[in-house]
Amino acid sequence: MLTALSRNPERKVIAHCTEKSEGPFFCPECGDELLIRKGKIRVHHFAHIPPTNCIYGSGESQAHLKCKVEIFDALKNDSRIDKLELERRLDGVRPDISFRVDGCHYVAIEVQISDLSLDDIERRTKRYKELKVNVCWILQMNDEIWGERFAPRVWEKWAHLLYFGRVYYWTGGTKVIPAHFDEHMLEVPHTSWHVEGGEERTAGGYYRVSKKYKEARIHDPIDLIQDFDAVQRDRFSTSKLDVPAAWVWADQLEKWW
Ligand SMILES: [Zn+2]
Repeated sequence: MLTALSRNPERKVIAHCTEKSEGPFFCPECGDELLIRKGKIRVHHFAHIPPTNCIYGSGESQAHLKCKVEIFDALKNDSRIDKLELERRLDGVRPDISFRVDGCHYVAIEVQISDLSLDDIERRTKRYKELKVNVCWILQMNDEIWGERFAPRVWEKWAHLLYFGRVYYWTGGTKVIPAHFDEHMLEVPHTSWHVEGGEERTAGGYYRVSKKYKEARIHDPIDLIQDFDAVQRDRFSTSKLDVPAAWVWADQLEKWW
């Protein structure tokens, strides 16, 4: 976790703006004392002193922490934004980064989608709607999207459905790369053979839609504030996936695929 509670006065502190001498620091979830980790290479953060039963902040990768810090720092200088906070405690959710845009739209950025179960992602998405907060699920870059074909994970397909056919991969600061997943066609080669009696049989010679693979149509990087807006969307289902009615923070691009 990037933030912790400090006392005298009681306040929330951010690891990369805080010195060890300002401690002790406490977990905002369980209240236990935390260590502050300020290395030269790793992202500054707080961690529980083992052993602990608290799972808050566990399993956060360095890539995840780096993404949160970078987005937060980049948004600090945006004049359209106020109420910016890291790891804000809301009822039932704790968005990685949250803020208000133009004095009216409340936005939550969630970047750890790969660490979560689909049930949890869906629960949080519903909760944000109840709180009237527009949620933006951002994914860590998946280098496989640059290939001729790739096999999206289930949460990538889910995000694709939620955001009207695009997924946002983080690329630095407030920039994300939108990708649309197109069908990938597999060739079923033409074959022919002779059955007993000499009659010729043939098969294949056509293309079919791959169930496993997609082709990513990748857009140039866009900005999470300039190119996005608040959208309220209805529930939507396909034969395999279901997204709830949601308040989303979605890009305003023309369809590019
Ligand atoms: Zn804790």
